[in-house]
Amino acid sequence: MIITIDGPASAGKGTLASYLADRYHLAYFDTGMVYRAVGLEMLLQGLDTANEDAAAAIAGALTFQKMMELSQNPEFRGPQGGKNASIVSAYPRVRSLLLKMQQDFALHPVFKDGSPANGAIYDGRDTGTVVCPDADIKFFVTASAEVRAERRYKEFVAKGIKTDYQEVLQDIKSRDERDSTRSAAPLRAAPDAIHLDTSDLSIEEVEVKACEIIDSVISRKKLA
Ligand code: C5P
Repeated sequence: MIITIDGPASAGKGTLASYLADRYHLAYFDTGMVYRAVGLEMLLQGLDTANEDAAAAIAGALTFQKMMELSQNPEFRGPQGGKNASIVSAYPRVRSLLLKMQQDFALHPVFKDGSPANGAIYDGRDTGTVVCPDADIKFFVTASAEVRAERRYKEFVAKGIKTDYQEVLQDIKSRDERDSTRSAAPLRAAPDAIHLDTSDLSIEEVEVKACEIIDSVISRKKLA
């Protein structure tokens, strides 16, 4: 079974995906990691993210293992990491060079310890439209920019990352703008995606809704 969850930054995709991966024993691919890895590697090599050729060279050399190593760096999940990822992800060549790695995961999904899984759950911006257009279930998760900024701000505070709410809100809005207006795989819901607006829902309420939908698809398609 392949499930995709797309939507804007901080809409609750990651939290939902981790929960569903556990519950349905699926391997989890957070696809934002491929772009975060390219952005961070450029930073570490002193390269300017405005340099598309350099970004493409880094993307072409990126392996799954290298991405996992880079994800241990504290900068990877920080505000600058998200911004750099959003910039390099707008380059069509970077996207196409990173596509195969993402698609291969659905063919051989593995858990973090390397053991094989029967399916995968993806989260990102284009996983239901470009990476796995044939996924069994597609979600498009949204929330207002203010609610998302508040969530991200709290996450940063909890991690001890110094920032302020207005800055986070501004960053969310610019990332939304960049992600949805870029020419390559702009953020949009797949025509067959199920929309979940999480603005006024608790995490538990979102999880319950998603499970109800998945269970009904599983029994209808006899997937389990
Ligand atoms: O989801 P996350 O915040 O980690 O993603 C970082 C950036 O990577 C996003 O702002 C987006 O620009 C880009 N991204 C993308 N396509 C994906 C996942 C993430 O363009 N499938």
